[in-house]
Amino acid sequence: MRPLKQHGVYDDRGFLWTENRTPGQKVYGERLRLAKGKEYRDWNPHRSKVAAMLRLLPDAPWLDPSKDVLYLGASSGTTVSHLADVLRPEALLYAVEFSPRSVRDLLHNTESRTNVVPVLDDAGKPERYAAYLDRPVGCLVQDVAQRHQVDIFLRNLPFLARDGVGYLYVKARSIDVAKPLEAIFQEVEARLRDAGLRIVAQADMDPYHKEHRAFVVRP
Ligand code: SAM
Repeated sequence: MRPLKQHGVYDDRGFLWTENRTPGQKVYGERLRLAKGKEYRDWNPHRSKVAAMLRLLPDAPWLDPSKDVLYLGASSGTTVSHLADVLRPEALLYAVEFSPRSVRDLLHNTESRTNVVPVLDDAGKPERYAAYLDRPVGCLVQDVAQRHQVDIFLRNLPFLARDGVGYLYVKARSIDVAKPLEAIFQEVEARLRDAGLRIVAQADMDPYHKEHRAFVVRP
């Protein structure tokens, strides 16, 4: 296991791994591997936008592992579980998901992960969960396939610390089914800049996630 410069992430034989905080437990059928007495979980870039971003933008700023993370679109916790592996003990991961069915699986998958706070709510209405977040987060991650995904991201920006980093994974076809991809992404870019954000990196997410683009931003 070779540690990458991104804290908590390892490479072995061309695969990405995180050290399993709940040894023996899998979340989505991922492979487990023992190395020097520690257990690692295979982090599949085809299943996770954050893992794909690590492959496509290896020099993009990584989250501060000692600061909280706000994750929008947690689903059943695939990516959430790997980020929870990466964080230091003092940091919490707030995992927002509005589908009750997914949250049921999320609860099951993160029950023994004490640093994950599942939130059953609409990420487009952050005022509803604002009371839970008592300090700015170091990282805002969003992976929701919604027409108004940029609005949702911008509404959650006030939670992000001044020196934090944002990862926005845009699914173009949820915004517009017909418009050329480049036009959609340019509009997203303009909206992020208008909101005062600095885009520090971006990349199309092929071949891992088709018609998606990752934006890495700083306030
Ligand atoms: N990020 C997940 C992962 O890597 O494991 C996969 C996320 S999946 C592509 C998108 C998720 O966003 C779905 O579970 C969907 O229910 C959720 N979602 C969509 N709109 C949402 C909203 N407004 N608030 C909260 N969750 C939302």
